[in-house]
Amino acid sequence: MTSWTAWADSQPQLPAAARSVLAERLGPLTPSSAVALTDATVPEPRLPAHVVQRLAQVAGEDAVTVDHESRARHAGGQAYVDIARRRRGDAAASPDAVVTPADAAAVSAVLQVCAEERVAVVPWGGGTSVVGGLDAERADLVAIVALDLSRLDALLVVDPVSRLATFQPGIRTPAAEDALATHGFTLGHVPQSFERASLGGYVVTRSAGQSSTGVGRIDDLVAGLRMATPTGELVLAPVAGSAAGPDLRRLVLGSEGTLGVVTEVTLRVRPVPAERHYEGWVVPDWETGLTVVRALIQDGPHPDIARLSDPDETEVSMLMSSAGRLTRSALSGYLRLRGVSNGCLLITGYEGSARDVRHRRDVVRAQLRSAGAVSLGTRAGRSWEHARFAAPALRDTLFDSGVLAETLETAATWTSLPAVYAAVREALQSSLGRVVVGCHISHLYPTGASLYFTVLAAADADDPDAQWLSAKTAANDAIVSAGGTITHHHGVGTAHRGHVQPDLGGDVGVRALRALKRELDPVGIMNPGKLLPDPR
Ligand SMILES: Cc1cc2nc3c(=O)[nH]c(=O)nc-3n(C[C@H](O)[C@H](O)[C@H](O)COP(=O)(O)OP(=O)(O)OC[C@H]3O[C@@H](n4cnc5c(N)ncnc54)[C@H](O)[C@@H]3O)c2cc1C
Repeated sequence: MTSWTAWADSQPQLPAAARSVLAERLGPLTPSSAVALTDATVPEPRLPAHVVQRLAQVAGEDAVTVDHESRARHAGGQAYVDIARRRRGDAAASPDAVVTPADAAAVSAVLQVCAEERVAVVPWGGGTSVVGGLDAERADLVAIVALDLSRLDALLVVDPVSRLATFQPGIRTPAAEDALATHGFTLGHVPQSFERASLGGYVVTRSAGQSSTGVGRIDDLVAGLRMATPTGELVLAPVAGSAAGPDLRRLVLGSEGTLGVVTEVTLRVRPVPAERHYEGWVVPDWETGLTVVRALIQDGPHPDIARLSDPDETEVSMLMSSAGRLTRSALSGYLRLRGVSNGCLLITGYEGSARDVRHRRDVVRAQLRSAGAVSLGTRAGRSWEHARFAAPALRDTLFDSGVLAETLETAATWTSLPAVYAAVREALQSSLGRVVVGCHISHLYPTGASLYFTVLAAADADDPDAQWLSAKTAANDAIVSAGGTITHHHGVGTAHRGHVQPDLGGDVGVRALRALKRELDPVGIMNPGKLLPDPR
C-alpha cells in the first residue's frame, strides 16, 4: 500500500550542493514532516444509509466503502495544495464513499442510482490530477462518491492488422505497456506520471507524454471509445477516418468526468521500436535553442523527444542530478573549454527502426552543431532516461526540507512564446519574492510549443495553500494576457476554470458545453465544479 502523502516508497537524498544553493537562493527554510494517515482528520460520511445499500446492490457489497482510510486516500490529487493539505493531516476534502465497480454495466448502474439520489460522482483513475480534477465539490447535492475505476484494468482486444488496442479505463500505463508488449506493440505515451496514471484519465484530460513530439499526444491516439452517462451510453466505434459530422470523440477528450465515465477506449498502437537513442546537448543560450528546435520541427526531420531547458532549469537539473552523472562543476569546466558559458540543456531522443533513428539523428546532429550546440553524448541522454520519473519523489524530499515545489504549464505559438515565457516568470517572481523559476519546452508543434515551469520557493509554514494559490493566479493571469493557453496538458479541473473561457471560445463556447452537459447529465452529478468557468 502506497504512502498517503509520498509518491514513492523511498525518497532520494538532496545532494549537498543542492541544499546549499537552495538555502542561498530561497532564504531560510523550515523543515516539515507529514502526518500519518491514521492521525488524519476525516469528516463523518454524509451518504445516507439507504444510498449505500442501493449502491451495494448494483455494484456489489465489497465495491462500496465508507471507512476513513479509503475516503482519505481519495481526498484530492497530486497538486502542491493537495499534498500540503494531506501532510498536515487535513482530509476534509474526502468523498463520502468510495465505489469500485467491476465492469462497465456496474458503472452505468451506479450513475443511475446517483442521479436518482442526487449524489455527486467524481470519477477516479490514477489519482494524479494536478489541477483539482478530483476535488470533492458537492454543489447542491446530497453527498459525494469517488468512483474508483481501478478494477476496470484489462486490455480487452488487440487488432494487429489495424494496429488498434481496446482497454478498460482504469488500467495503469505500466500494466497496459506490459500487456501490449506480449503482442509486440507499444502505446509510447509516457507522461511523468506514467507509473500511476490510468489510460481513461489520460483521455479525459488530453494528456501529453514525453515523446509527444514524435508519437503525438493522447488526442492523436484515440480511435474509439464508450462513455457511460447518467442518461445512457455514448458508443463511438473505432474509425480509420470519417466525415460523419462533428467528431464526438473530441468532445469526450478533455471532458474531465463532467459528462460521463469513459468505460472503454480504443487506441492506436505501434510496434515496439527496435532502437531507442537519447543524447544530451548544450546550446549556447535560450534564444538559439528556441530557433534551432523550431527549425527541426518545422522543416524536419525531428527527434521524438526534444526537451530544451532554460538556464535556470539547466542549473537546477545539474544540481539535483545525484551520483555525479552530470555534476555542475565538471560540466561547466567542459563547456568553458568548448566556449559555451551559460548554456541550455537539450535532450534529444529517437525511437524507431535502426535505419530511421540513424538517418534522423545524423541530420539533427549536423543542425545542432551548426547552431553552436555542444554534444554531451549518450551519457547525458541515459542520465535523463534514468531520472525521467524521479522528480515526484524528489519533490517529497523538497517538501520535507521546507521547499514549495510546484509546476505549471502552458503552450504558445512560436510568435508569442517569448512573451508568455517572460510574463509567467515575472508573475511568479513578483508573487513569491525569492524564488527559482526554471522552464523547459518539450512538446513541439510546427506552430509552437509547450512551456513547462518548475517553481521552487521557501514554503510559507503558516499558510502554504494561500502562498501558492496567489502565485498560481498571478501566473494564470499572465498566461491569458500574453496569449498562451491556460493548459497544454494538465487539464482544467478547478485550478484553471476561472481562466479557461478564452480557450473554450468565449461565452458561446461555454454555453454550448453547458447545454451538452445538461443533456447528458441533467441533475449535474458528474464531477461538479470542474472544467466549466462557473461551477455546475
Ligand atoms: C508527478 C506528476 C507528473 C505528471 N506528468 C504529466 C505529464 O507528463 N503529462 C501529462 O499530460 N500530465 C501529467 N500529469 C498530470 C496527470 O498525470 C494527468 O492529468 C493524467 O492524465 C491524469 O490521469 P489519472 O488516471 O491519474 O486521472 P485522475 O487524476 O484520476 O483524474 C483526472 C480527471 O479525469 C477524471 N477521470 C479519470 N478517469 C476518468 C474516466 N475513466 N472517465 C471520466 N473521467 C475520468 C477525473 O474525475 C478527473 O477530473 C502529471 C501528474 C503528476 C502528479
